Amino acid sequence: MSPAQLRGVGPIDSHCHLHTLPSDERDAVIDAARQRGVQGFLVPAIELEDAEEILTLCQRHDDMWCALGVHPHSASTWQPGHGKRLAELLKEDRVVAVGECGLDFHYDHSPREDQFRALREQWQIAIDHDLPVIVHNRDSDQEMLEVVREPAFGALRADFHSYCAGTEMARELLDRGFYLGLSGMLTFPRADNVREVIPIAPVEQLLVETDTPYLAPVPYRGKPNRPAYVVEVLQRLAQELKLDAAAAAEQTNANFFRLFQRAAAETTDNSGEARR
Ligand SMILES: [Zn+2]
Repeated sequence: MSPAQLRGVGPIDSHCHLHTLPSDERDAVIDAARQRGVQGFLVPAIELEDAEEILTLCQRHDDMWCALGVHPHSASTWQPGHGKRLAELLKEDRVVAVGECGLDFHYDHSPREDQFRALREQWQIAIDHDLPVIVHNRDSDQEMLEVVREPAFGALRADFHSYCAGTEMARELLDRGFYLGLSGMLTFPRADNVREVIPIAPVEQLLVETDTPYLAPVPYRGKPNRPAYVVEVLQRLAQELKLDAAAAAEQTNANFFRLFQRAAAETTDNSGEARR
């Protein structure tokens, strides 16, 4: 790999499962991303059991934050009492969102009724704690929209990560003020269905991500994805927006800190101590 270094500000990887990498590989992976100018990392949980490892990882790095919650694949692990446990965990330093949570009817790794239950409970907890959610949605567009429209979730703030559900759904999500996370799919030759949302989206509502270790962008397809490759995602977004890469990074980073306000509170804290 002979990666180009970005001039000026680099992007934030708003979705990378760094905790799933072997622990002796993580530092090199994080350093490689920083070398390319990557400004930050958001690590979303898959299960509540991930929390301790993720918190330890994020609390070691000033440029790393996390989301805690339960992925739809693991929704059947969401048990009575977990809501209370999650609410406790959300008080920890470096936690900036609930997630990732959602619906996945492509794999159906958990029964659908469990997926709905875990989703609604986590969204309610996010609203109660004034935190945004990171949403996973696959082959469940209509059902997801129906939950989104429930009056209880009128105050929800959300990042629909690795978005690929087309323009019609995008319009409704964007109208509700939600953000769309664009992943390496943006670079796939046949992914017009991903790129077509860019012209209809306010640029203030776009984020970039890798979804490490999945979905590596061109030219790394078929290899494990890494946060360093968020640069390729950003460059493609910049090309679509007819911006230079640094301007696109500044925009998507500002979007990141607007949505994940707790991350912004940490970086603007000038007490001289690492806080939150
Ligand atoms: Zn994910």
